[in-house]
Amino acid sequence: MTNLDENVLRRMPKVLLHEHLDGGLRPATIVELAQECGYGGLPSQNPAELAEWFRRGADRKSLALYLEGFAHTIAVMQSPSALERVAFEAVEDCYHDGIVYVELRFAPVFHSERGLSLEKIMESVLLGMSRARNKYGVECGLIVCGMRHREDSLEMAELALDFRDRGCVGFDLAGEEAGHPPKRHLAGFDAMRRGNYYITIHAGEAFGRDSIWQAIQICGAHRIGHATRLIEDIVVHEGKVLKLGPLAQFVLDRRIPLEICLSSNVQTGAVPSLDEHPFGVYFREHFRVTLNTDNRLMSATTLTKECQLAVNLFKLDFDDLEKIMINAMKSAFIPYDERCEIIFGKIKPGYKKLREELGLPAPKSRFT
Ligand SMILES: [Zn+2]
Repeated sequence: MTNLDENVLRRMPKVLLHEHLDGGLRPATIVELAQECGYGGLPSQNPAELAEWFRRGADRKSLALYLEGFAHTIAVMQSPSALERVAFEAVEDCYHDGIVYVELRFAPVFHSERGLSLEKIMESVLLGMSRARNKYGVECGLIVCGMRHREDSLEMAELALDFRDRGCVGFDLAGEEAGHPPKRHLAGFDAMRRGNYYITIHAGEAFGRDSIWQAIQICGAHRIGHATRLIEDIVVHEGKVLKLGPLAQFVLDRRIPLEICLSSNVQTGAVPSLDEHPFGVYFREHFRVTLNTDNRLMSATTLTKECQLAVNLFKLDFDDLEKIMINAMKSAFIPYDERCEIIFGKIKPGYKKLREELGLPAPKSRFT
């Protein structure tokens, strides 16, 4: 088997669908932005120490604790220039990680603490992303997050709709799951559906399969963030799948994309350990799984690292990774012709070139 080392994995054209803008800042940028805006709450002024503080803080087996670190990143993202910079750097970092298409998501409402309007917040982030797209050729889209504990998801959905021709590609519901079912945000999802627009929902991360069922069948989600607990609807005995429940069967049959975040799931306690992550079952059963970072800073990860984890843990090979990235691209919230352009213009040629360099045989043909 080819040695899928870090260098090869980084050079593979990759697609990232689930990454939070406020969870992927460079530590040095946080320190600089904090100085610029006079924010004195950082636990350290040293970027390396700060990175370690975020990682440790996230790795406490609780989603609520995982989310605590965001108070600091959000505190330094309260001006147009800070938002633009963070967005630019996120896409730039993706480029250096071999990513050809990325969807970043964030909750605009968190960035109005110092008086910025929601429109200005959106414009600033989109400006940073488009500057990086022009410089590096990385295609990207922005997803607006409504928050589970708040009452303004309809307003956020309408904001996403307002910006659909300016780089916004969809709507998400994020935040603490327990006690905040997605069905309470129906008005926002209805607005999205009436507008023929895309919905992804964080579901089945900290809460059971009912959260995933609600997200799909009540709220109309087109993709599911995490979906870790979908395994509760699959009967597995000694590593073998015996039976899919009706929800799992539906997710499989409808090819509903699952935005899997391996490192993050262990850190929040959504799964007890990487070995026990249901990704392997989902992948073998042909669910449409994608690999994602969730929060590159908090989870101390990159998409290359997530691929490495998947290779090591679930024995993925070169062809498997190409298939996952093509499936991710098929699942992107941009028009069909643009997805095809990236698949046939960047992803397939990129894998072909690498395959030739590494002396690998042509890919096994199999349906995706
Ligand atoms: Zn997330």
